[in-house]
Amino acid sequence: MIDFSKFELDHVAIAVESIETSLPFYQALGFSSHHIEDVPSEKVRTCFLSLANNVSVELLEAVGDESPITKFLQKRGPGIHHMCYRVKNIEAVVAQVKKAGIQLINETPRQGAHNCKVVFVHPKSSGGVLIEFSEKMSDS
Ligand code: ZN
Repeated sequence: MIDFSKFELDHVAIAVESIETSLPFYQALGFSSHHIEDVPSEKVRTCFLSLANNVSVELLEAVGDESPITKFLQKRGPGIHHMCYRVKNIEAVVAQVKKAGIQLINETPRQGAHNCKVVFVHPKSSGGVLIEFSEKMSDS
């Protein structure tokens, strides 16, 4: 049995219309460095801003009309999109979550930003919050 209380929060993601126009707010708060990465498999561009406790804020911008972020922005407007927990052995996490009757969006881990394997829990199963589990594949 995996103990989820041992896992850490990795990041909180915010859907934005544009990373470029959103960055000045974060720079005004003192964030001096960020990491922008395209994730073609998810049709998104991500921007990670790190906090001192190893938690990040992830800005998410749509890439193309088919992006889930485009749909999210149309439905709800900019705002908190998901939260992500850093896990180990993501396959075992998937098995345990499925056994508990929790609905996943993808049961096979996908390639996420930062060379991570990721799965998403459907908001229907988690009180309206999209949850990401992420396992880092290497320290590159
Ligand atoms: Zn994320």
